[in-house]
Amino acid sequence: MAMTRWNATLAARNLAELATSRGGEMERPFLACDDGRSFSFAQFWALAGRLAFALQSAGAKPGDRIAVQVEKSPEAIALFWACVRGGYIFLPLNTAYTAAEVTYFVGDAEPSVLVVTPQRKESLASVAAGVKATVLTLDDVGGGTLVEGATREVADHPSTWEDLAAILYTSGTTGRSKGAMLSHGNLASNALALVEAWAFTPQDVLIHALPVYHTHGLFTATNTLLLSGGRILFRRKFDADDVMRLMPGATCLMGVPTFYTRLLQHEGLTRAATAHMRLFISGSAPLLAETHRAFSACTGHAILERYGMTETSMNTSNPYAGERRAGTVGFPLPHISVRVADPASHAALPAETDGMIEVKGPNVFKGYWRNPQKTAEDFTGDGWFITGDMGRISADGYVTISGRAKDLVITGGFNVYPKEVELLIDAMPGVLESAVFGVPHPDFGEAVTAAVVAKPGAVLDETAMIATLRQHLAAFKCPKRIIVLQELPRNAMGKVQKAVLRERWKGK
Ligand code: AMP
Repeated sequence: MAMTRWNATLAARNLAELATSRGGEMERPFLACDDGRSFSFAQFWALAGRLAFALQSAGAKPGDRIAVQVEKSPEAIALFWACVRGGYIFLPLNTAYTAAEVTYFVGDAEPSVLVVTPQRKESLASVAAGVKATVLTLDDVGGGTLVEGATREVADHPSTWEDLAAILYTSGTTGRSKGAMLSHGNLASNALALVEAWAFTPQDVLIHALPVYHTHGLFTATNTLLLSGGRILFRRKFDADDVMRLMPGATCLMGVPTFYTRLLQHEGLTRAATAHMRLFISGSAPLLAETHRAFSACTGHAILERYGMTETSMNTSNPYAGERRAGTVGFPLPHISVRVADPASHAALPAETDGMIEVKGPNVFKGYWRNPQKTAEDFTGDGWFITGDMGRISADGYVTISGRAKDLVITGGFNVYPKEVELLIDAMPGVLESAVFGVPHPDFGEAVTAAVVAKPGAVLDETAMIATLRQHLAAFKCPKRIIVLQELPRNAMGKVQKAVLRERWKGK
């Protein structure tokens, strides 16, 4: 592979070599878990090597896919590193997927090994047999047939930066979900970029309360700490009381916006309680500017918001040193280029103009698994990845996301960017948050519709709200209807599921 700028100075030839050559002492403490177990980096690395042996014994060959649907545990993370060490391709699946959904992924990916919770073993036996995969089990406290077979370490496979380390299926809110192929180079370059951009050192202690079947918890949080030599407080789930208790011994929290809204509801959240923390990072879904401001007022910490996706890992980040601007996702990370382009012609657009966000860099995935057509559709002729996110870049370089292109509402031939309407609604008294979406309309094609959640105790008046919006927005952008909900439908990463709203309110 041609030396690229990001790896020009590295002696390591793959992710496993990088992990052992960086971040200091092998004996350093690495993972402390809420089940009482802890692992030094050397112990974690040895565990990964033994799990690689168990996979090999189950019939896996380098280049094979290892599909994994297990609860969060240190072994679940070590299993990814087992794949890195053994030359296998890690394929994590959301624990919420039903057996029927797993059947699709297994049929598409044809793994040679399927690792599941003991409870799932029976229901997936015939699916695994259909693709001749061996089924192994892993529970959330380190038991199961996978670990029983992990009796000795294997020698590392000599993978290259171009070899695949993982396939992550996208959440697929429209149509079938697609497998994003991520190479050793993709993941290494991004982790190194984040260590640099966020100034991680061996002194860092991260509170890890994210799921590990998704890029955020699996790669962004874990790899950054692993390559910086820092330590992880590994929690099986997010709990505000638990996070508050950990803060005096931690330096960083990486979370989805919901973590921060929950922490803001915690009466213990003060300057003193967060004094030991160095950095609060948010991503995977938009952080409301109001949450940013409220957190800052309460703790003195400006949350650092960043933007990424399964296909690219992280693309942009607000600065570590410098203004962390609420409502924006900051600047491109080191070695990554970001542009806003005309969605039809892909010509770059000037600053302050809305368009399609496109990305180029060593972080960008190798394409969709067994789907060359979709891969070709999502790249421009000159190699930019078309993210599907709409946004703009300010004159001083900050990127703002206005939403997914497929969430754009087209009404009477006019484009309405939901974010523009949502920001106005969110600023109204009594409104906690909102989601603007389109529903089919016989005259306009789509009608702008808003779902809103009231602040505790507030009463919202639909007619008065629409009248206020009229004073600020062209008539075609104003919601025809405002629906008050108890809460917005969200997935596990905190993303508002607009497809669910569209489906629920169509024709009503
Ligand atoms: P996923 O592939 O599940 O990580 O989802 C990626 C998508 O989440 C992106 O394409 C964006 O639409 C959205 N996203 C991620 N981070 C942010 C952010 N900071 N602000 C707004 N949207 C975000």
